[in-house]
Order: sequence, then C-alpha cells, then structure tokens
Amino acid sequence: MKLTQMLFVTMRDDPSDAEVRSHALMVRAGFLHKLASGIYVYGPMMWRVLRKIETIVREEHDREGCQELLMPAVQPRELWEESGRWDRYVSEGILFHFKDRKGSEVCLGPTHEEVVTSYVRRLVQSHKQLPVILYQIQTKFRDEIRPRFGLMRGREFIMKDAYSFDVSKEAMQVSYGKLREIYRRIFTRCGLNFTPVEADSGAIGGSGSEEFMVDADTGEDAIAVCRETGYAANIERAASRVSDPPKPAEKVAIHKEPTPGATSCDDLKKLFPDLPLTRMIKTVLYNVEDGGDQAPVAVLCRGDRAINEIKLLNHLSTLAVTLADEDTVRKATGAEPGYAGPIGLQEGVRLIADRSIEGVDGFLCGGNETGTHYLDVWFGRDLEQPETVDLSLVAEGDSTVDGKGKIEITRGIEVGHIFQLGTKYSEAMGATFEAEDQKTRPMWMGCYGIGVSRVAASAVEQNHDDNGMIWPVPIAPYTVHIVQMSVGDETQDALASKLHDDLEGRGVDVLWDDRKKVRPGAKFKDADLVGIPLRVVVGRDAADGKVEWSTRAGSERSVVTVLEVIANIEQAIAAAG
Ligand code: ATP
Ligand code: MG
Repeated sequence: MKLTQMLFVTMRDDPSDAEVRSHALMVRAGFLHKLASGIYVYGPMMWRVLRKIETIVREEHDREGCQELLMPAVQPRELWEESGRWDRYVSEGILFHFKDRKGSEVCLGPTHEEVVTSYVRRLVQSHKQLPVILYQIQTKFRDEIRPRFGLMRGREFIMKDAYSFDVSKEAMQVSYGKLREIYRRIFTRCGLNFTPVEADSGAIGGSGSEEFMVDADTGEDAIAVCRETGYAANIERAASRVSDPPKPAEKVAIHKEPTPGATSCDDLKKLFPDLPLTRMIKTVLYNVEDGGDQAPVAVLCRGDRAINEIKLLNHLSTLAVTLADEDTVRKATGAEPGYAGPIGLQEGVRLIADRSIEGVDGFLCGGNETGTHYLDVWFGRDLEQPETVDLSLVAEGDSTVDGKGKIEITRGIEVGHIFQLGTKYSEAMGATFEAEDQKTRPMWMGCYGIGVSRVAASAVEQNHDDNGMIWPVPIAPYTVHIVQMSVGDETQDALASKLHDDLEGRGVDVLWDDRKKVRPGAKFKDADLVGIPLRVVVGRDAADGKVEWSTRAGSERSVVTVLEVIANIEQAIAAAG
C-alpha cells in the first residue's frame, strides 16, 4: 500500500481527554476519531488491526468446532423480562433502550444470553444435538457511567461473545475448559502479557468465572496475586486469611467513653493509643436498592479491614448497595454520622458482619449516640455475635487463605471473561432438551466474552514508547514500513517499488511511505507514531542495492541487501507466530 493513496493524517498534540497513552497515541496517529463520549470512528489503520484480531479469534474458535453466527443488536424487552434482567440493567443505567413506532420497548444488546437462549431453545430438542458452542463478533452497546481511555471503555464497542450448551454440569465444564484454552491461545497470539484470574460473576450470573487480565499499571481492575502459590483473583472476588485477633483483653464491664469529634478509626487511635485497630469494630451503614423500600444494612468489620462492596452485594443478592447518606445514618443510629455501632441500632436495621470480627473481644465500637463510643465490649455478654460472612476487601500483605504466601495487589485490563452459567437462563427461559433417559432437562450453559476493541487498546498500552505505538507483529495494521528518503530519485524509486511488490507478492502487509514533499525527519516521526513493527529505509545505499533494516522496538540498525532484508522480515514474522 502506498501511503500517498491513503487518508493519512497524524497529529502532533495529545487530545485533551486522553488519560492513558494508548488512547492519546491512537488518536494522534489517526486510528481513532471521537464522535461522542465513548463512541468512535475506527479509521482504516484501526480497522486493519481489529480485523487481524478478529481473524485470530475466528481461527482459534473454528479450530475447536465452535460455530460462528450473527445475532441482532436490537432486542425486545420481553426476552429480557423472561430472564428477569430488564430491571437490573435499566436501574444500573447501562442499557440503551427506547420504544419503536408501535410503542414496543427494545434495547441495543449489551450482551446476548437472552437472544442466544431463545434461538437455541427452538432448534435443540435432543441430547443428540449437544454440545453446541456458538459465537459471534459484533458491536455491543453499553451506556457506561464513565466511558474513558478510548477503546478501553466505549459505549459502543466490538465484542466476541460465545455461548455453550451442554447436557450436564460435567459437560458444561468440559466446554468451559475448552474455551479457557482457546482464550489463552488468542491472547498469546495477539502478543499480550496476561494473567487469568478468578472473577466475580456480576450481573451475568452463574457460578465459576475467570477473567483474562492484561498486565498494565493503568488497568482499571485491581488483582490480588500471590507469587508463592500462583493464586490470582480480581479484588472484587479475592479472599485472604485474616490475621488472628489479639489476645483476649482483661474482662472488665462494658462502659461508655466520651469521644467527641472522633468519627474514624484514625481519630480513635489518637484517643486510645494503646488500643490496636484489631480491637476496634467499625459499623458501616449501607442503603440497599432492590426496587422497593428497604431498611439500611449495618455491616461490622474489624478496624484494620475494609468492606468489599461487591461481596456485600452478592451476599444480599440485591440490585445495588451504596453507602448510606447522612440522613439515613442519623435515622438508623439516632446519632450524627461517625458513631454507629451494633448496640442499640434502630428497629429494623439489619446487622451483618465480616468474618474479621470473629474472636475479637473487649473491643471498641460506636455508641449510637453523638460523641460516644462503647469500650470493653464482649460478644456473648454485651450483645449476640451476628452471623458472619466473608465481606473483606483483600489488602496488600495479607496471607493467602491457605497461609502459604503473601498477597500483592497489581493492576490489569480485563480483555476476556468466561463464565459457567449453569441453568440460570435455560430454566428461566425454558431452554430444555430430551435427555438420554427421556426426561426433559434444562441445558447447561456457559458464556464467554472478548473485548476485541479493548484488546487493540491493551496491546498499545503494553507496547509503546515516548515516540509512539509499537504493534505486535500478528495484529499490526501493516507488518513492514518502507520509509523512502528521497522520492523521485530513480534508483530509490526502483528499489522501493520492487521491494514493495515483492513483499506484497509474498503476502506480507507493506506500507510504503512514498510521499515526495515530506522531509525524512517527519517520515520517521510518523513511522514511530504509527508503530509498524518492521522497518526498511530506502536511502543512499540504494545505489549499492542495499537498504537499512530495523525494528520499531529495537535500537539496532543494519545495512543489508534486499535479499537479506526479505529473509529478515520472513524470520521476524515466523518468530511472532
Ligand atoms: P468491565 O468490568 O470492564 O465493565 P464487564 O465485566 O462488564 O467489563 P463482560 O460483560 O464480561 O464485561 O464483557 C466481556 C468483555 O467485553 C470484557 O472482558 C471486556 O474485554 C469487554 N468490554 C466490556 N465492556 C466494555 C466496554 N465498555 N468497552 C470495551 N470493551 C468492553
Ligand atoms: Mg467481565
């Protein structure tokens, strides 16, 4: 491809809304054009990258017998009522939905469990037709609360979504394992460094799930990893071993202490310097949203721990939990915020506790009275210990649950997510089949997503320098960049043209910078920005039939013959897989 035949415009300055390098560089290189918040035009170079990722995705799914189809983006509300997800998606605000001219409500698909289940329930009658794994590559719509980072979190983006249907739990797990391997191969082929982690299942539902996280400091997800044991989990889901409670305190009677103005553990630490955080119990009030009126929930945890709101949400199986506002706190405690405690909460406030409170005795907690805390409180004597569940947010330095290693918190970008759904959708929507014993049973499902456009952004986030992007060979918009120094010089023209045609003839994607009026310095700047991985400079050495060879990532350059450069290129392509 000759550059003079392309719409090729690069920009010197970062766009003002770019918070991460991948976003800034893609916009500057003309790969992306913002139309509205989280909605982009994919330019011709970007589209080449996306198509290469899609090809890898297709090859790996097809190889394992998954079948591609295409489902509609417009989906009727009734289907989402069948699965029971309409209200949750509407209340989260994520769903783009509207009425058609007849007044029927429809949405633009954020995901396709409902559609695929309604399709398969029609077509599959017998166990003999299973297993089935279907997938599509399609534009998804999510009205994200914070669209940002360019393609990382768009409101319209490209996803590959796959769905498996099986006769039993065991068979579902086989399909899940198959997809897990497909995902590993896809991300490896895309040239990404990634970590599979245990994940929360969120609004999609179901039991087991794993996410594929691209290692990146700018990633939106926090991950708990342990180098000693290999444990890796999204912080939303991660568990750790809470250190033992302090030795029991001397058993003195419960009493009130005046603590005016001390509304946090830090304040209390100053007032009671000898009392460790592990002997304080925090009481945090949450509002629960499930469509109807609900009393607030008070959650207890040890002073040195924090509450994981995702675990809380899952435990309460509700639509949303949010920190209670000050008025709610006043009503629930009868005191100003900062003095909530488990003793003497108002009627109807539900009390639950994180496991970290187990074994804590002789502790300090809020007095439900402004400016007052209780001291020397004992479970069993002064109040019943509430039921405990794991609601703890894992922290750096925690021990793993098995006690064999320490947890580190790192960051990552979620590029893929695989779920064992079980029979949640098939039961709700009547997707059944006749089993071998002639009984009618619901199908066992799995669902599997890859953010195709997010993969492209992650690849740049992981591979760039101060001058621009550095594309991994398998997903680069072009593989080879020919930079011709002096266009119009007959020797250079002839050599560049021959090299270009020769490489194209071998099926190599080549971009040839054949611009006449652009200085070499500007050409190199553009080449660095666009980040095509292999580079051939056609300049003065053309008179000797030689060119300069380098890679975008490396600093070495060598002057070689045309035959040698072709060999180098073929070798680099083979090495990249
Ligand atoms: P996130 O937690 O990042 O919002 P999610 O868990 O809601 O993502 P899934 O429903 O698991 O996303 O979707 C499958 C994949 O689609 C994700 O792993 C991610 O790679 C991609 N994806 C999800 N939302 C977006 C988005 N707004 N823009 C680009 N890609 C996305
Ligand atoms: Mg996810």
